[in-house]
Amino acid sequence: MRIVHIATEFAPIAKAGGLGEVILGLSRELCRIGHEVEVILPKYDFIPHSSLQRVSLEVPDFKCFEKGQLHANAMWSAECEGIPLHLLEARHPAGYFHRGKIYGCDDDTARFLYFSRAAAEYLKRTDRPIDILHLHDWHSALAALFARDVFRLPVKAIALSIHNAAYQGKCAVWDLDYIGLPGQKHLTKDAFQDDDPAHPSLINILKGGLAYADAIVAVSPTYAKEILTPEYGYGLDPTFRKLEKKLVGILNGLDLKFWDPEKDRSISAHFKAKDPIETILNAKGQNRAALAKRFSLPAASRPWVGTITRLAYQKGPELIEAALLETIRLGGVFILLGSAPSPELRAHFENLKSRCKGQALLHFEYDEALAHEVYAALDFLVLPSRYEPCGLSQMIAMRYGTLPIARATGGHLDTIFDCDDPNIPSPKRNGFLFRNYSEPAQIEALRRAIDRFKKNPALLHALIKNGMSADWSWAKPAREYERLFLQLLRNTANR
Ligand code: ADP
Repeated sequence: MRIVHIATEFAPIAKAGGLGEVILGLSRELCRIGHEVEVILPKYDFIPHSSLQRVSLEVPDFKCFEKGQLHANAMWSAECEGIPLHLLEARHPAGYFHRGKIYGCDDDTARFLYFSRAAAEYLKRTDRPIDILHLHDWHSALAALFARDVFRLPVKAIALSIHNAAYQGKCAVWDLDYIGLPGQKHLTKDAFQDDDPAHPSLINILKGGLAYADAIVAVSPTYAKEILTPEYGYGLDPTFRKLEKKLVGILNGLDLKFWDPEKDRSISAHFKAKDPIETILNAKGQNRAALAKRFSLPAASRPWVGTITRLAYQKGPELIEAALLETIRLGGVFILLGSAPSPELRAHFENLKSRCKGQALLHFEYDEALAHEVYAALDFLVLPSRYEPCGLSQMIAMRYGTLPIARATGGHLDTIFDCDDPNIPSPKRNGFLFRNYSEPAQIEALRRAIDRFKKNPALLHALIKNGMSADWSWAKPAREYERLFLQLLRNTANR
């Protein structure tokens, strides 16, 4: 099959969270099992040229319509991590992809609608048959309409993956007009009109994409069920229920090359699942000692707890703070690697930082290398998410011998099996779960974990082994995507 992704992230060159890793890992595995995979990505200004191979100017100049004008673009082809990329250089006066970051600009709607249209314009120029056009979240969802209705691309089927249903690309009718679509015409219940009856003139890009897609993929089986409910559907639950027949849940995998404690160049001491537990603990101890020295933290026989996250509402910042304070109270060390907090949240956590000097490290940047070091050093990773479509952090943690303490929601429920759950066979148990989004529920799980750390290390060692030896790879999920895609092709052949 020829599979073309249109995506806004690709690890490691353009990663803001899990999406970038998913595009890398899924593409790599689909290539490995014999498919032809390409990724169309904006050519962000921060992408280091040195991490690209076989760079060439594929289309020196093609135009994309926006706000009554034609804007110039170029398409570069390159390879990264062995995956063929098409990098859209938008020579737009607003410098859409020259912002030093992927998301969080005031004009994100215009930036990503432009990207969706330009990607489709490029595919129209090349006009090569595509079996599966794979779109991701609202940022590229509009490409479904461009592919089908505007440019009539030779695409057999369109899949739209939902990595986070809370972000929907809500905008005005004229935002569609700007990108060359009749906004008013698309403002219909069955397509782009937002489901909220209080805002009947609001366009919802994700919703429109869902209508046009042949298959909707939620990134975990539990999340596929959750988004049918008002609590998790973020206003789109009526649409998800209506389109339930084409909705499936496929759990994300981990790119095992990207996350490999045996070869990871960011960590000091290496280890692997097959090592004896003493070797694993010894290596983790060395990694901890390296971090302790660098950041003046105590290393000796205390529980090291932490989290590596976008500090967003979804990730439960209040509970992260509560976990930090409780860990310190129980004599542990806490590491918070939390990117992109709002200015208020940052000020709040800065204040906290000054209060727990010597017992905690709080770092508010996105730091890939440090993330690897922290995963390799921690005993426990807390993940108190309000919702979690899949979550990669818990899988990464387990691969690095770190036990998750997580809220039982979304992908956490599909990957974490509580150490005290009598319904789970012992070889599967790999962490600690709590059900309610509340401080007492989280503290109970944290205390359970630290209590085991102090009193029953043998049990923790068994959990570490279980987590490390589980198969988090893309092998199974990629086969599920492959099965789905083949089914879509059969459906289109029968149409
Ligand atoms: P989401 O995509 O919602 O942010 P995931 O758990 O799917 O959450 O993926 C998060 C990815 O981003 C993981 O690889 C995690 O290690 C990484 N990450 C999150 N915050 C940071 C940070 N501040 N620095 C480095 N890596 C981070």
